[in-house]
Amino acid sequence: MSHAIYPGSFDPITNGHMSILESGLVSFEKITVAVLNNEKKRPLFSVNERIELTRDAIAARGLDTSRIEVDAFDGLLVDYCRRKSATVILRGLRAVADFEYELQMANMNRHLSGEIVTVFIMANDAYFYVSSNLCKEVCRLGGDVSKLVPTPVDVRLLAKLNEGK
Ligand code: ADP
Repeated sequence: MSHAIYPGSFDPITNGHMSILESGLVSFEKITVAVLNNEKKRPLFSVNERIELTRDAIAARGLDTSRIEVDAFDGLLVDYCRRKSATVILRGLRAVADFEYELQMANMNRHLSGEIVTVFIMANDAYFYVSSNLCKEVCRLGGDVSKLVPTPVDVRLLAKLNEGK
Protein backbone atom coordinates (compact mmCIF):
# COMPACT_ATOMS: atom_id res chain seq x y z
CA MET A 1 0.00 0.00 0.00
CA SER A 2 1.37 3.48 -0.84
CA HIS A 3 1.63 5.39 2.39
CA ALA A 4 2.88 8.98 2.71
CA ILE A 5 3.67 10.92 5.84
CA TYR A 6 2.64 14.59 5.70
CA PRO A 7 4.62 16.22 8.52
CA GLY A 8 4.34 19.76 9.81
CA SER A 9 3.54 22.05 12.70
CA PHE A 10 -0.09 22.55 11.63
CA ASP A 11 -0.46 25.38 14.19
CA PRO A 12 -3.24 25.48 13.06
CA ILE A 13 -4.11 23.59 9.85
CA THR A 14 -5.07 25.96 7.00
CA ASN A 15 -6.86 25.55 3.68
CA GLY A 16 -3.39 25.48 2.10
CA HIS A 17 -2.49 22.38 4.13
CA MET A 18 -5.91 20.87 3.31
CA SER A 19 -5.39 21.32 -0.44
CA ILE A 20 -2.04 19.48 -0.25
CA LEU A 21 -3.71 16.68 1.72
CA GLU A 22 -6.54 16.41 -0.83
CA SER A 23 -4.10 16.37 -3.78
CA GLY A 24 -1.96 13.80 -1.96
CA LEU A 25 -4.96 11.49 -1.64
CA VAL A 26 -5.09 11.29 -5.43
CA SER A 27 -1.65 9.67 -5.46
CA PHE A 28 -1.37 7.83 -2.16
CA GLU A 29 -3.68 5.23 -0.69
CA LYS A 30 -2.99 6.35 2.85
CA ILE A 31 -1.70 9.63 4.32
CA THR A 32 -0.61 10.17 7.89
CA VAL A 33 -0.75 13.81 8.92
CA ALA A 34 2.09 13.91 11.44
CA VAL A 35 1.81 16.85 13.81
CA LEU A 36 5.18 17.88 15.18
CA ASN A 37 5.29 17.84 18.96
CA ASN A 38 7.27 21.06 19.32
CA GLU A 39 5.99 22.48 22.60
CA LYS A 40 9.36 24.13 23.21
CA LYS A 41 8.67 26.41 20.22
CA ARG A 42 5.60 27.64 22.12
CA PRO A 43 2.94 26.91 19.50
CA LEU A 44 -0.42 28.66 19.92
CA PHE A 45 -2.22 25.30 20.06
CA SER A 46 -0.96 22.29 22.02
CA VAL A 47 -0.16 19.18 20.03
CA ASN A 48 -3.43 17.58 21.18
CA GLU A 49 -5.42 20.65 20.14
CA ARG A 50 -3.68 20.67 16.74
CA ILE A 51 -4.53 16.99 16.25
CA GLU A 52 -8.16 17.59 17.22
CA LEU A 53 -8.45 20.62 14.89
CA THR A 54 -6.91 18.64 12.04
CA ARG A 55 -9.36 15.78 12.59
CA ASP A 56 -12.28 18.23 12.76
CA ALA A 57 -11.13 19.94 9.54
CA ILE A 58 -10.87 16.58 7.75
CA ALA A 59 -14.35 15.57 8.93
CA ALA A 60 -15.80 18.97 7.96
CA ARG A 61 -14.34 18.58 4.45
CA GLY A 62 -15.89 15.10 4.17
CA LEU A 63 -12.59 13.43 3.28
CA ASP A 64 -12.26 9.64 3.41
CA THR A 65 -11.12 9.15 7.01
CA SER A 66 -10.37 5.48 6.39
CA ARG A 67 -7.37 6.66 4.33
CA ILE A 68 -6.15 9.41 6.67
CA GLU A 69 -4.50 9.11 10.05
CA VAL A 70 -3.67 12.07 12.28
CA ASP A 71 -0.84 11.45 14.70
CA ALA A 72 1.79 13.28 16.76
CA PHE A 73 5.50 12.78 16.25
CA ASP A 74 8.80 13.99 17.59
CA GLY A 75 12.40 13.05 17.02
CA LEU A 76 13.81 12.29 13.59
CA LEU A 77 11.21 12.22 10.84
CA VAL A 78 12.96 9.35 9.02
CA ASP A 79 12.75 7.23 12.20
CA TYR A 80 9.04 8.01 12.44
CA CYS A 81 8.60 7.03 8.75
CA ARG A 82 10.36 3.71 9.41
CA ARG A 83 8.15 3.02 12.44
CA LYS A 84 5.11 3.67 10.25
CA SER A 85 6.52 1.61 7.34
CA ALA A 86 6.11 4.65 5.06
CA THR A 87 8.60 5.46 2.32
CA VAL A 88 7.25 8.83 1.19
CA ILE A 89 7.36 12.23 2.88
CA LEU A 90 4.77 14.63 1.46
CA ARG A 91 5.44 18.38 1.58
CA GLY A 92 3.80 21.43 0.04
CA LEU A 93 5.72 24.10 -1.86
CA ARG A 94 4.62 27.69 -1.87
CA ALA A 95 6.69 30.69 -2.91
CA VAL A 96 10.40 30.54 -3.68
CA ALA A 97 11.01 31.15 0.02
CA ASP A 98 9.98 27.56 0.82
CA PHE A 99 12.31 26.07 -1.75
CA GLU A 100 15.70 26.37 -0.10
CA TYR A 101 14.53 25.09 3.27
CA GLU A 102 12.56 22.23 1.73
CA LEU A 103 15.48 21.22 -0.51
CA GLN A 104 17.80 21.18 2.49
CA MET A 105 15.39 19.04 4.53
CA ALA A 106 14.71 16.64 1.65
CA ASN A 107 18.45 16.18 1.05
CA MET A 108 19.15 15.63 4.73
CA ASN A 109 16.37 13.07 5.00
CA ARG A 110 17.68 11.30 1.89
CA HIS A 111 21.15 11.28 3.46
CA LEU A 112 19.73 9.77 6.66
CA SER A 113 17.60 7.21 4.88
CA GLY A 114 18.15 6.41 1.20
CA GLU A 115 14.87 4.51 0.83
CA ILE A 116 12.65 7.45 1.84
CA VAL A 117 11.74 9.98 -0.86
CA THR A 118 10.23 13.44 -0.43
CA VAL A 119 7.41 14.30 -2.82
CA PHE A 120 6.39 17.94 -3.28
CA ILE A 121 3.01 19.23 -4.36
CA MET A 122 2.77 22.82 -5.57
CA ALA A 123 0.46 24.98 -3.50
CA ASN A 124 -2.94 25.77 -4.93
CA ASP A 125 -2.67 29.36 -6.22
CA ALA A 126 -5.62 30.40 -4.03
CA TYR A 127 -3.50 29.58 -0.96
CA PHE A 128 -0.04 30.41 -2.23
CA TYR A 129 0.49 33.09 0.40
CA VAL A 130 -1.37 31.39 3.22
CA SER A 131 0.61 30.28 6.26
CA SER A 132 -0.47 29.36 9.78
CA ASN A 133 1.58 32.25 11.15
CA LEU A 134 0.01 34.83 8.85
CA CYS A 135 -3.51 33.57 9.65
CA LYS A 136 -2.81 33.81 13.40
CA GLU A 137 -1.40 37.32 13.01
CA VAL A 138 -4.28 38.59 10.85
CA CYS A 139 -6.86 37.03 13.19
CA ARG A 140 -5.13 38.55 16.21
CA LEU A 141 -5.44 41.97 14.57
CA GLY A 142 -9.15 41.45 13.92
CA GLY A 143 -8.94 40.41 10.26
CA ASP A 144 -11.21 37.82 8.65
CA VAL A 145 -9.48 34.53 7.83
CA SER A 146 -12.65 32.46 7.37
CA LYS A 147 -11.85 31.82 3.68
CA LEU A 148 -8.28 30.74 4.49
CA VAL A 149 -8.80 28.17 7.24
CA PRO A 150 -11.34 25.35 7.73
CA THR A 151 -14.45 26.46 9.67
CA PRO A 152 -13.61 24.53 12.89
CA VAL A 153 -10.22 26.27 12.90
CA ASP A 154 -11.72 29.72 12.33
CA VAL A 155 -14.01 29.23 15.33
CA ARG A 156 -11.28 27.90 17.64
CA LEU A 157 -8.73 30.48 16.50
CA LEU A 158 -11.02 33.35 17.48
CA ALA A 159 -11.79 31.69 20.82
CA LYS A 160 -8.11 30.98 21.51
CA LEU A 161 -6.99 34.50 20.75
CA ASN A 162 -9.73 35.88 22.98
CA GLU A 163 -8.68 33.65 25.89
CA GLY A 164 -7.35 35.71 28.75
CA LYS A 165 -8.38 39.03 27.17
P1 ADP B 1 6.62 23.26 9.13
O1 ADP B 1 6.88 23.94 10.44
O2 ADP B 1 7.16 21.85 9.06
O3 ADP B 1 6.99 24.06 7.90
P2 ADP B 1 3.88 23.84 8.46
O4 ADP B 1 2.67 23.43 9.20
O5 ADP B 1 4.16 25.30 8.37
O6 ADP B 1 5.05 23.04 9.14
O7 ADP B 1 3.84 23.28 6.97
C1 ADP B 1 3.77 21.89 6.72
C2 ADP B 1 3.86 21.65 5.22
O8 ADP B 1 2.74 22.22 4.57
C3 ADP B 1 5.11 22.29 4.57
O9 ADP B 1 5.55 21.45 3.53
C4 ADP B 1 4.57 23.58 4.02
O10 ADP B 1 5.35 24.04 2.92
C5 ADP B 1 3.18 23.14 3.58
N1 ADP B 1 2.27 24.27 3.53
C6 ADP B 1 2.00 25.16 4.49
N2 ADP B 1 1.12 26.10 4.06
C7 ADP B 1 0.82 25.77 2.77
C8 ADP B 1 0.00 26.34 1.76
N3 ADP B 1 -0.68 27.47 1.96
N4 ADP B 1 -0.06 25.73 0.56
C9 ADP B 1 0.66 24.61 0.35
N5 ADP B 1 1.47 24.02 1.24
C10 ADP B 1 1.56 24.59 2.44
